[in-house]
Amino acid sequence: MFKLKKLEELLGLNEASEYGMPVFEKKLSKGIRGEANRDGTIFVDKNLPQKEIEKTVAHEKVHMDQMKRGDLYYDDTYVYWKGKRYLRSEMKEGAKDLPWEKEAYNKTKK
Ligand SMILES: [Zn+2]
Repeated sequence: MFKLKKLEELLGLNEASEYGMPVFEKKLSKGIRGEANRDGTIFVDKNLPQKEIEKTVAHEKVHMDQMKRGDLYYDDTYVYWKGKRYLRSEMKEGAKDLPWEKEAYNKTKK
């Protein structure tokens, strides 16, 4: 006997996915719960319970919005926020006092 897996499962797509904004469950770096990617996809830590995944997706959606309106951009070395450059090696990624994180945390406060 075998059980057919749903396509969503095979792709690692989480049910929090939306049209144009797929949410992929992945193994992420330590301490990283989610990632908003420039290609419009979101990655979430596959070990989180669904409720936490939904919280994380709501948070990453704010970053998506920041990128869409042109306030946020990043490359491997820098994060650019409203025309200012922040060196990634000098910041704690996801820290609540970073301006783009501040907005994301404020907007997702229950
Ligand atoms: Zn964030």
